[in-house]
Amino acid sequence: SDMKPVDLNEGLQSTLVLVRNNMPDNLTVINELGNLPKVECQPGKINQVFMNLVSNAIQAIKSKKVPGDEEFLTIKSWYEEQQVKISIKDTGIGMSEETKHRIFEPFFTTKDIGEGTGLGLSIVFSIIEKHKGHIDVISKLGVGTEFIITLNVNPE
Ligand code: ADP
Ligand code: MG
Repeated sequence: SDMKPVDLNEGLQSTLVLVRNNMPDNLTVINELGNLPKVECQPGKINQVFMNLVSNAIQAIKSKKVPGDEEFLTIKSWYEEQQVKISIKDTGIGMSEETKHRIFEPFFTTKDIGEGTGLGLSIVFSIIEKHKGHIDVISKLGVGTEFIITLNVNPE
């Protein structure tokens, strides 16, 4: 396969560059990228994970009925016990408990027809699973959502 040692901060940075034009004016990006060792992974796949999560976060902020003067997208990375952790957090609409339990199902979407295929997070889940990593979600309706990805520096 195309596994190789990758600086994940680079993928996060380039994801932000790609979505910048899509961000509303009231959105502030907070960038807290820590010092990371390289992670053995498939960079194209991991960049797809970042793009899906960041796109969802921006959509969650854009779809607020009562937008705040300032909304936040916070991207963090850090190294802890041989693992790299990435957090992508938004102050968007958040999820109900029912939604939260179904987000990784293929074709599950709460978006209007044409806006979402419901495939993004099922793809994210299978990519993280193939890398033997983890993905956790913390979300509260009306408050926001945080996804935390954990990857082993050396899988196996
Ligand atoms: P899609 O974006 O096409 O709807 P996804 O698989 O990416 O499909 O996401 C599935 C569903 O999970 C979304 O429709 C939405 O209900 C919920 N979701 C995902 N990310 C967020 C987020 N950051 N904030 C709120 N809801 C989210
Ligand atoms: Mg999506």
